[in-house]
Amino acid sequence: MSTARTFRGGIHPVGYKELPSGRAIVTMTPPAEVIVPLKQHVGAPCEPLVKKGDVVNKGQKIGDSDEFISAPVHAPVSGVVKGIQPCTDPSGTIVQAVVIENDGEERLDPSIKPNPDLSQLDAETIKNIVREAGIVGLGGATFPTHAKLSPPPDKKIETLIINGCECEPYLTCDHRLMVEQPERVVFGTRALMKALGVEKAYIGIETNKPDAIAALKKASADYPGIEVIPLEYKYPQGSEKQLITAITGKQVPNNGLPMDVGIVVNNVETAAAVQAAIETGMPLIERVVTVSGEGVKNPQNLLVRIGTPIGEVIEAAGGFNGSPKQVIIGGPLTGVAQSSLSVPVTKCNTGILVFNELKKPNKPEPCIRCGRCVDACPSFLLPVNLANLSDIGQYDKAVELGLLSCVECGSCSYVCPAHRFLLQSILLAKQEVEAQSYKKTS
Ligand code: SF4
Ligand code: SF4
Repeated sequence: MSTARTFRGGIHPVGYKELPSGRAIVTMTPPAEVIVPLKQHVGAPCEPLVKKGDVVNKGQKIGDSDEFISAPVHAPVSGVVKGIQPCTDPSGTIVQAVVIENDGEERLDPSIKPNPDLSQLDAETIKNIVREAGIVGLGGATFPTHAKLSPPPDKKIETLIINGCECEPYLTCDHRLMVEQPERVVFGTRALMKALGVEKAYIGIETNKPDAIAALKKASADYPGIEVIPLEYKYPQGSEKQLITAITGKQVPNNGLPMDVGIVVNNVETAAAVQAAIETGMPLIERVVTVSGEGVKNPQNLLVRIGTPIGEVIEAAGGFNGSPKQVIIGGPLTGVAQSSLSVPVTKCNTGILVFNELKKPNKPEPCIRCGRCVDACPSFLLPVNLANLSDIGQYDKAVELGLLSCVECGSCSYVCPAHRFLLQSILLAKQEVEAQSYKKTS
């Protein structure tokens, strides 16, 4: 019986993490051309700050917005702007992007300079560095980090949680980062604590990564305010609300946010990006991406420049192994299947998975009232009832039953012996409710 902390519900899918988890992160050679979407975050898209023909430096800001919920984007390479044009992002949305032809010079922008020592930076300065570096939640959520660090005055933040769970199968980018660069994660944690004005931080890591737990414990040994917490390997352990419950016992209220219980959660790679922004001045122009699945010759974790087409990333991992049937960006449970290999890597891009078999969904059958979906739901919901209400268009009733507290983990669909499309029905209801609320307010 595991003594590691966890939450109620969830599922235990096979991890398939052994392929790349034992291999060191490899830095990928930057591509000949990058496609940098002007929206890689939750919030307002950026306006381009460059035009066709401009010469840009590596790390130069090339897009920004006046909106608070937004994050600037930077040139991942030095070179010439070929144009501002639409591209399909990993979610399948068409967005504007800056296309840069790489001149191979790696010419650093003069604005990139190390900042003073962390001890000399105050909270506002740290938030500004984080904003200007374009840092967003790198676990895949992409909420602008500076906004998370600026809660309204009536929300008193007491605790920071750093999320090192990486609970989805196949993904190991956070794992390798924690094992190889734990000092960066700890530095970033200290900086985020200072920005929030908190004395306590927990780094939550699942017990299937004992080397990462050991590395972070060692790297944080001199900082008594930072505690590494081993957590049970279970999906969706890395979901913010479930992580908060597992570590602190607190429940984020229905339709509430972590800040409602005095907590801010950030991912380990986000913490490392904060370290880079402070200690080197380098904005977010690259990230670690897991390239895995049986359809890849040499599964590994690559440090990839933002804007690199995913086809080139797969090539850097040895290319296809057999005949690919499906390419997914993200994890297999929450990721998005891709229809083109030209889609660029963005800040949200935790993984690129290639499969040689296209798993067709089983034909759904009538519910047998087994209750497994209820047991698996980490949000204490009745997924079968929510799905039924969605199927008959009774979205208001679904909201009354907590629809908006669904974290979209898909655990209910995963365990359903009748193969019902529970998550899909629930997502449809959430989209309808969102659309109705948008209509009312616009
Ligand atoms: S109802 Fe939502 S939160 Fe609950 S198991 Fe299904 S997808 Fe996850
Ligand atoms: S798991 Fe499937 S069959 Fe069982 S109660 Fe839920 S919807 Fe019905």
